[in-house]
Amino acid sequence: MTPLTTYEARLEDIRANVVDIEDFNERVVGAYNSGLAERALPADDYTARSVVPAGTGALRDFSYIAPDIPEFLPENCVGCMDCVTQCPDTAILGKVAEPATLADHLAGIPDESLRGRIGTQWAVTNKYFNVLEKKGVGGGKFGIFIDLTKCKGCAECVDACGDHKALRMIRKIPENLDWFRQTFSVYKAMPETPAKFINEKALSDMMLTERSLLYVGGAGSCMGCGEATALRMMLAATGFLYGQENVGIVAATGCNTVYTSTYPYNPYRVSWTNSLFENAPADAMGVRARWDQLGWSNKRLWIIGGDGAMNDIGFQSLSRMMASGADIKVLVLDTQVYSNTGGQASTSSFKGQDAKMSYHGSSIAGKKENRKELANICMMHKDV
Ligand code: SF4
Ligand code: SF4
Repeated sequence: MTPLTTYEARLEDIRANVVDIEDFNERVVGAYNSGLAERALPADDYTARSVVPAGTGALRDFSYIAPDIPEFLPENCVGCMDCVTQCPDTAILGKVAEPATLADHLAGIPDESLRGRIGTQWAVTNKYFNVLEKKGVGGGKFGIFIDLTKCKGCAECVDACGDHKALRMIRKIPENLDWFRQTFSVYKAMPETPAKFINEKALSDMMLTERSLLYVGGAGSCMGCGEATALRMMLAATGFLYGQENVGIVAATGCNTVYTSTYPYNPYRVSWTNSLFENAPADAMGVRARWDQLGWSNKRLWIIGGDGAMNDIGFQSLSRMMASGADIKVLVLDTQVYSNTGGQASTSSFKGQDAKMSYHGSSIAGKKENRKELANICMMHKDV
């Protein structure tokens, strides 16, 4: 068989022979969204083959799950982007606009009061406006926009904003839900942040670009989940540098695979696979070998796993992979307990830590063993 080496040729092949993306999004995701999947869908060959197209999480609507939502107060905003980088659900996004482009867009809004109100949502910050004005290259207006359908109401963004006090949680009521929909549609309609406003060495600025938005939200993670924030950051930086088509993930079973593959919702816009709890590094070595065989040495491959998968059950596989010198990166979502099974102590839990299977009480003072320092062990492998 002749290998399909171009991205476009492989995409065409996948569309023709693996998954009909339009059909999946309309028929399968539509049935789940309406709550009728178990009655309306016939036996589904996509589930039988464990296939989900990329980014279907974007079609999921969480607007009903939280009573509160963050409100943006532009007069206090400094444009630090901390809210955007910290949100676990890609529910708050930033954009910088040239004043003339913004004025053109606002002129197209027929309702005068809405036009005026949306205009006030764009802040003049030192970072994106005053500094660039002083340099003589023209400053941009900065806006923060909340996606009602992705926000779980965790308030992590408000904590991240802190003393700037440019975000606060408010109750959802029918009137403000319309406002959130209108402002987010402005975010989507405005052009991408121009390159002149982006410092290519800052993660916060990378997150202003569309090529960094490789985690679309709509995942089943708990509200405020720090793992999802870490995944978003990793993908933003890798995507910014290498591009969406050059990033792949091999995930070890655990919390991360549960919330990112809750059928039919997939928050990733990159290639992703999952085999077992204990063999993600071995699986990744196979993927890397095949990619290299196809001449795809520029593609970046990540392994994701929790402390259970990496410190414990999958440790020998991780050690084998590191010993091989394969060009693979590893992100350990170290929660210091077995989170997916309810919080039992792992070898990553600290001595004295109170966890299931190592309770802290009058007879036993928490976990008795020392924590295994995985990073120290990794450094004993040549080339790590
Ligand atoms: S409340 Fe939570 S989910 Fe909503 S925008 Fe803020 S950080 Fe994101
Ligand atoms: S964290 Fe606060 S100050 Fe920083 S960009 Fe977000 S809203 Fe603005």
